[in-house]
Amino acid sequence: MSQIRHVLGISGGKDSAALAIYMKQRYPTLDIDYYTCDTGKELDETYRLIDNLEVYLGKKIKELKAVQHPDENSFDFHLKLKGGYLPSSIIRWCTQKLKLEPFEQYVGTDPVVSYVGIRGDENREGYISKKSNIQSIFPFRKNIWSEDVIRKVLNIANIERLMDLYVSIDLEKKSQRFEELLMSPLERSFTMEQKLHLLLDSNVKDFNRLVFAFLKGTNYPLAHEQYFPLVENDEVLVRKDIFRILEESGVGVPAYYKLIDFEVNNQKGQYARSRSGCYFCFFQQRIEWVWLYEQHPEMFYKAMEYEKEGYTWGQNESLEDLIKPERIAQIKLEHLKKASGKQRTASPFLTDILDDAEEIGCAACFI
Ligand code: SF4
Repeated sequence: MSQIRHVLGISGGKDSAALAIYMKQRYPTLDIDYYTCDTGKELDETYRLIDNLEVYLGKKIKELKAVQHPDENSFDFHLKLKGGYLPSSIIRWCTQKLKLEPFEQYVGTDPVVSYVGIRGDENREGYISKKSNIQSIFPFRKNIWSEDVIRKVLNIANIERLMDLYVSIDLEKKSQRFEELLMSPLERSFTMEQKLHLLLDSNVKDFNRLVFAFLKGTNYPLAHEQYFPLVENDEVLVRKDIFRILEESGVGVPAYYKLIDFEVNNQKGQYARSRSGCYFCFFQQRIEWVWLYEQHPEMFYKAMEYEKEGYTWGQNESLEDLIKPERIAQIKLEHLKKASGKQRTASPFLTDILDDAEEIGCAACFI
């Protein structure tokens, strides 16, 4: 019987939602607990996505709140404690207080495998808990293991142990190439990243089997498991797969990803929001603030109310200044210019135009 818990955090974004669907379809025997850390400041579309997912999964998604009092909003409570100091990309107290701490409390001291929806076409690592009882797994990537695990496995001091495992465990295909790669020491001209990619390119499943066997002698949660089905996973999922999974499952893509037409100085353009998270999130781009102002003005004005005593969401500009007509026109024109330079796909989603946007910011909020 399994001694570990399997958990999957639903951020309200497309990738974690698609991961929950994917895990149910692909690994129905894994008993996964779903949770979401609610800031109480998300767009309605996010709450609708979570409702749709619950129906699809046939399971409750546990809502974790940083503050339990029913009359107190978690974000507002912590903002008061901070004396009105708005969070920013530099001092991001909101992620710590509203997402990471409630998650770590929920997990407690149980050994936990946490599934994270970072895609195969992304270049970021995501949230890695510092707690040794939490192990992150990335099912959409070719490399499902977290950076700390890979660092241990490929550490020069462990080559001998790895070779012993290579000889003793069942592998799909033992090859000289794979063996040579395993034995090759890391050097300046042969980095850990290169070694990892070559091993994965050589045989993903065998590499996974080896890592899983290696973990047995460690304190990682998966050391307790006799069998872990994701060891056999060699699929890589990218952005278009995510939209396909959401659409085919019937859960649907949150409406804020859909492009909306606008016109500025007789030029036509399109905008949308590129990710989930709080409606006032300081990570959003200026064109997304304009989208919020024009599509959800009530939320924009609520975001404006937070800008007091010199604190603003943006670094150099208040929201009051951002919605001056000449400034809105300028932001739209800048967006048009950027979009025309990047219009490589006929995708209807802004994330394909602002494709760097997803890799900036908060993995706990935007996956
Ligand atoms: S979405 Fe943005 S504002 Fe909200 S908790 Fe995450 S980083 Fe903070």
